[in-house]
Formats: sequence, structure tokens, C-alpha cells
Amino acid sequence: MNLVRGRLIPYFDYRRDFFNEEEELIRIVREAGRRGAFILQDDLSQFESNLAEFTGARFAVGVGNATDGLFLTLRAAGIGAGDEVIFCTHTMVATAAAIHFTGALPVPVECGADHLIDPASVEAALTPRTRAILPTHLNGRTADMRALVRMARRHSLTIVEDAAQALGSRFCDQAAGTFGAGGAVSFYPAKVLGCLGDGGAVLTNDRNIFRRLSQLRNHGRDAEGLVASWGLNSRLDNIQAAILDRRLQRLPRAIDRRRAIAKLYSARLRDLHELTLPPGPEGDSDHFDVFQNYEIEAARRDRLRKFLETRGVGTLLPWGGKAVHQWKRLKLRVSLPFTESLFKRVLLLPMNAQLADNQVHKICDAIRRFYRA
Ligand SMILES: *Cc1c(COP(=O)(O)O)cnc(C)c1O
Repeated sequence: MNLVRGRLIPYFDYRRDFFNEEEELIRIVREAGRRGAFILQDDLSQFESNLAEFTGARFAVGVGNATDGLFLTLRAAGIGAGDEVIFCTHTMVATAAAIHFTGALPVPVECGADHLIDPASVEAALTPRTRAILPTHLNGRTADMRALVRMARRHSLTIVEDAAQALGSRFCDQAAGTFGAGGAVSFYPAKVLGCLGDGGAVLTNDRNIFRRLSQLRNHGRDAEGLVASWGLNSRLDNIQAAILDRRLQRLPRAIDRRRAIAKLYSARLRDLHELTLPPGPEGDSDHFDVFQNYEIEAARRDRLRKFLETRGVGTLLPWGGKAVHQWKRLKLRVSLPFTESLFKRVLLLPMNAQLADNQVHKICDAIRRFYRA
């Protein structure tokens, strides 16, 4: 590893966003702390309302993290034991875990050439027990919701969306997370909108789901504090919400920056036949992608990864290199040949709003050198 300062391009630098805003962040914490505003306070409701406005959702409910958000939304939609929920295994294990802990059966299906849930594979997995489809809007791109919404209508299925990576992403001008009963977004620090720890929210247009979620996240208590049902504790911290509200104002600029980086990657790499790149930001008019990640398919992937490492460029294998169904101990027991072959080629290149053009050029130079050799 070349450790000369400035030459090292980590996959993601967790300190950077903090350093860049240190004074402002401390001020936000001090201001909320002096009010004693820690749990379910105005900063949270303010952020929830701004988040709803940003996405065009009727409601947003802050929760502890996106995994909880998925679980609670499935529960709010009445999904549980005896039900089957279809998901694509090119996702975080959290997606499947959220289904598992409702008591329902997670039913794994393939992704398509775009790396997102394959509607044909969903159709083939339908049974009389299917209750819901849980698409993941992977890498900041919204899945083909036209096909999924149509299928859900035809078979009376619920849609719950894993929009953990897709805040701000749109399909046919509708925001990820707003197509079904509810959609969970994540504020994990490395996500498009990150906080200083764990955090998440659920977007919903359904007043009943909103009401159920507001109770479920707060010990089953209603707005008057009366216990209306069994519940859990999964609230978004008020201080995190205050920080997120500030960062939300800058999110459109951060998304523009990610899209500019994607455009640059695409311009520098698209002639390499050894690579398959994600669609560029102007790829097609149905999609507005926020590029949470830049996921390529690469010939000789593992050797490329090692080569980049020696040049000081950090990359990542999605989900530690395995699709969810490939973790044997989860006993999902399916074979998904397309997804499995894809996982031999996929690689994540650095992608975040802090990345400078010259760093993207360095990464691309190194990749070109590798394939020319
Ligand atoms: C990050 C992520 C999650 C989990 O989000 P948390 O807020 O960490 O619980 C779930 N699904 C996907 C696709 C993710 O990227």
C-alpha cells in the first residue's frame, strides 16, 4: 500500500464528513442538549416533515435504523407467520432478517442485468401464501416499480420497499419508498444521507400504516401516551434528527456531486470491454439515480481489486462477497444461478460526495493500466 498522503483513496472515510462540519455539529448537539431535547422532540418532527416533503411522501416516521423500519412496516402491514415475502438476494442480509423476524418466510429471487430485483423471477416465485414483495432499490437506483406495482395489484400483494440506499432516487418521477405500504431509508453514516451513528425512517402515504408505525416504534403508545398495542423501542434520536435536518438541506447538492462522479467514471471507463458499468446518470428518462454506490462488473475482478489496493485505492465486495442466499447458515436453500455468477464479477468503486475529480481520474488511470498490462 502506498501510504504517501493524498495518494490514498479509501473506499469511504468515516471521519471526513465530521471534520468538514465539526463546529456546526457541535453547535447542534449543544443547542439540543441545553434544551434537554433528546427523545421525540421538535427537531425530530421537523425533520420528519422535511423528509416527507423532500420525497413527496405524505408521512415520514423516524426509527432506530432501516432494518427496524422494514420490520416494523411489515408488522404494521399485518405480515407475519404463515406468510411468504419475496425479496432479491442482492441486498443486505438486513432485508431478509426483517422478513424472518416477523415470522414470515423470506422467499429469495434473482436480480436482473441491472442488479435489481427481476420481475420475471418474482412472478415465478408467487404462491397462494405470497403476501408481499420487498424490492431493494440497490445502489441508489429505484427498481422497475411499473412491473412490480402491476403484479402486486393483480395478486393483491403488499409492497414494502428497502430504500435504505435510495433516498432521493426516483422512478418515473416518483420517489423510492413511496410506491407501496411503506419504504425504509437508512441514515447509517456511509449512506447518501448519514448521521453520527444509526438512524432510519419509514416513508408512507398510508395514514393507517403511519399511525401503526408511530405506535410500534414507541412501546405501542399512542399520541396521548396510552398503550394501544404491543410495541418496541425504535425511535430516531432527536439529536440525530437535528443533524439530519441540517444535512438534508445539502442533500440535493451531494446527490448532484455523486451523479457527476458517475458521469466521470462512465466517460473514463466505458470503452473497456472487460467492464460492465452501471447506467450513467443520463441513462434513461424513467430513472433518477442517486449513486449510493458505483457497482461495476469486472473481468479478473479479484486481481483488479488487489492491483488497485497496491495503488492505494480501496474497493469493496458487495455484502462481503455473497448474496444473502449464499450464507449457508441462514438455510435459504435455493440456487440462483444468475445472481451467483454476477457475484463473481461485482466490485464497488469509491463513490461519495467528498471524492474529488482528480481522485476519480487516479482510480480510472489505475484500472486502465491494469487491463492494458
Ligand atoms: C444499509 C442497508 C440496510 C440496513 O440499514 P440500517 O439503517 O443499517 O439498518 C438495509 N438494506 C440495505 C440495502 C442497506 O444498504
